[in-house]
Amino acid sequence: MKQTNKQTKQKHNESQKRYYQKNKDKYKEFRKNFDFKKYYQEHKERIKEQSKNYKKSEFVKFKNKARNKARQIKIPKEQLCQICNKKLAVDRHHEDYNKPLKILFVCRSCNKLLDNLE
Ligand SMILES: [Zn+2]
Repeated sequence: MKQTNKQTKQKHNESQKRYYQKNKDKYKEFRKNFDFKKYYQEHKERIKEQSKNYKKSEFVKFKNKARNKARQIKIPKEQLCQICNKKLAVDRHHEDYNKPLKILFVCRSCNKLLDNLE
């Protein structure tokens, strides 16, 4: 089966190449005339939005991964918030999502504060 896939792919590549060869001049002409700047200006919002969404989703995935890891660390009983030292810690806060196991035990209000600082 693998062989067939490879062959199909090769065939596909070849036909693409042939297509490109045949239309090479057209492509060149198109690229020469194509105004990327103008295209960007016209679609700026959409392009920005798309890259923003992409970055956001990657970051969210990254964050969730760290959070899932941190969830395995139990908050010690009677642990005071490591920020205000007043209330009991009920949340975990990451200082750096690159270090998923390095967390602070914080109370809810401090966690909110920290999240707003991000
Ligand atoms: Zn606190």
